[in-house]
Amino acid sequence: MIRPNKNGYYGEYGGAFVPEMLYQNVNELQENYEKIIFSENFQKEYKNYLKNYVGRPTPLYEARNLSQKYGTKIYLKREDLCHTGAHKINNAIGQVLLAKYMGKKKIIAETGAGQHGVATATACALLNMPCEIFMGEKDMERQKLNVLRMKMLGSKVTPAVSGSKTLKDATNEAIRAWIQDPQNTYYVIGSVVGPHPYPDIVTLFQSIISQEINSQLHEYGYELPNYVIACVGGGSNAIGAFYQFISNSFTKLIAVEAAGEGIHTPKTAATIALGKKGILHGSLSYLIQTEDGQIFEPHSISAGLDYPGIGPIHSYLHDAKLSQVLSATDQEALEAALELTQLEGIIPALESAHAIAALKKLTFQPNEIVVINLSGRGDKDMNTYQQVFQYE
Ligand SMILES: *Cc1c(COP(=O)(O)O)cnc(C)c1O
Repeated sequence: MIRPNKNGYYGEYGGAFVPEMLYQNVNELQENYEKIIFSENFQKEYKNYLKNYVGRPTPLYEARNLSQKYGTKIYLKREDLCHTGAHKINNAIGQVLLAKYMGKKKIIAETGAGQHGVATATACALLNMPCEIFMGEKDMERQKLNVLRMKMLGSKVTPAVSGSKTLKDATNEAIRAWIQDPQNTYYVIGSVVGPHPYPDIVTLFQSIISQEINSQLHEYGYELPNYVIACVGGGSNAIGAFYQFISNSFTKLIAVEAAGEGIHTPKTAATIALGKKGILHGSLSYLIQTEDGQIFEPHSISAGLDYPGIGPIHSYLHDAKLSQVLSATDQEALEAALELTQLEGIIPALESAHAIAALKKLTFQPNEIVVINLSGRGDKDMNTYQQVFQYE
């Protein structure tokens, strides 16, 4: 299993670049997380929630119509059927439970489109923890439904009103709140990003996805998949789906980035394709930057992939040629979403549609096993689908 070294590096990527005020807090987490997560009590409680609350194991569904179209055997890992509609809840429950075991009294998180905010607010309602979610004021207007969900779940939603009033401003606000009361506050990060040990923590919680894929394929009578395909924003659903298969050289791991309007346009979010090494949100990884080293404003039609960085483990996998990185444009993702919907009766999240779009970019043999991680359901994207497909 791939784990970071004690300083949080996967090869040359990762680390923990945090303000001095947070050293002690991050250190406390570094020193305690493995002991807690691997303890029998924690595992028992966490697995119970995954089974009886989240609804795991999620099905590994043989998509016959899609398979016929692409001339191979395609299985969909149905993370869209998790409670709250995506994989993010696997991690949110794990981290809020970790916070409880550490004796923390309050949860904070930042959210862009609101998906991680909803997952965290859900876990906090379940586990009786006070919760404050920071969200850019502009994002709050764009994602009203998720704001309402968080409020109904009992969380405080605090608008970030500085700068561009989006995700990066919400991150600044959350870090400010963390510094104010580091002793009692636990900061829940939503993807395999941030300072060590967050990428490792999120990887451990999401790796349940590939553990299940592995045993479900065995039940179908297969040893290993030929391909595992997943979309990448920060990279948590992808690493979750890849994790068990990284160490075998048979399975090809395909990470699909959001190309936006195209990787040769300024409206893109294809981090590995365009990025250079840099530090963002506490770790060193590939990062899309302007020529003078400023953080680039990314674009993708899917809010969950609209991120200028990528988790350090994905930079490592890419450089070590342990994964292959493709990209899909907004247009390609929309076409793939419609295709999946009409062939299989499953409306995917726009993020997940990027993984489906990769089917057109690869060539398969008839007896190959292709697993696609369907990270979330498409309800949240119906406004976009309605506009694009012009439904009355
Ligand atoms: C947030 C989100 C993503 C992107 O995040 P990762 O950490 O890259 O998985 C992908 N799909 C869905 C449905 C999401 O909500």
